[in-house]
Amino acid sequence: MASKKAPKAQGGAKGIERNPHGEGYERIDQYDTELVKRIGSHYSDILKAIGEDPKREGLQKTPERVAKALQYLTHGYDTDPAAILKSALFKEDYSQMVLVKDIEVYSMCEHHMLPFFGKAHVAYIPNGRITGLSKIPRVVDAFARRLQVQERLTNEIRDCIHDTLKPLGVAVVMECDHLCMRMRGVQKQNSVTTTSAFTGIFLSDQRSREEFIKLISARLH
Ligand SMILES: [Zn+2]
Repeated sequence: MASKKAPKAQGGAKGIERNPHGEGYERIDQYDTELVKRIGSHYSDILKAIGEDPKREGLQKTPERVAKALQYLTHGYDTDPAAILKSALFKEDYSQMVLVKDIEVYSMCEHHMLPFFGKAHVAYIPNGRITGLSKIPRVVDAFARRLQVQERLTNEIRDCIHDTLKPLGVAVVMECDHLCMRMRGVQKQNSVTTTSAFTGIFLSDQRSREEFIKLISARLH
């Protein structure tokens, strides 16, 4: 399963307190001081390498801040997305589409370590089991807070929901803006990258897929 294949950061998540009740996630509010020091000293070197003076006033605490920010931005390595879903699993006879759309996504591309961000739309058709609605955005976040490519992120979200809920189908569409495209390289200023991934009914039944696309395209709120 995708969530188990995710690379484990070398000590990267020691600052994150696991929820002892097994929900698989917890907001980071503590940092591994050793790791902050280690990452920070590298950023001190980087500042020098780009021609800056790490000792000047505005930069004195920058390596430490960056080290903490980086730990936060990659805290997904210490989360178990499947456990998030399993923490709120209910038997239910509902077999229509469940759609959570416009989920905010913040991730970092693994090629440039620059942010990409946008929205995810996630749907599934239950097969006797549903999960708490708030768990879907948490699963998105758990995979997004790692070094990623948008294509893999889309697939990992789909696979996790498919493997955990065993629904009749899963649909995921992501629309993201990549700062590595905007700020460097091709500098395509307004391009949005769209990726999609489907399983089950969404693959085999064109009408289900079309209904999903219609619902995520509608601006009802
Ligand atoms: Zn990139």
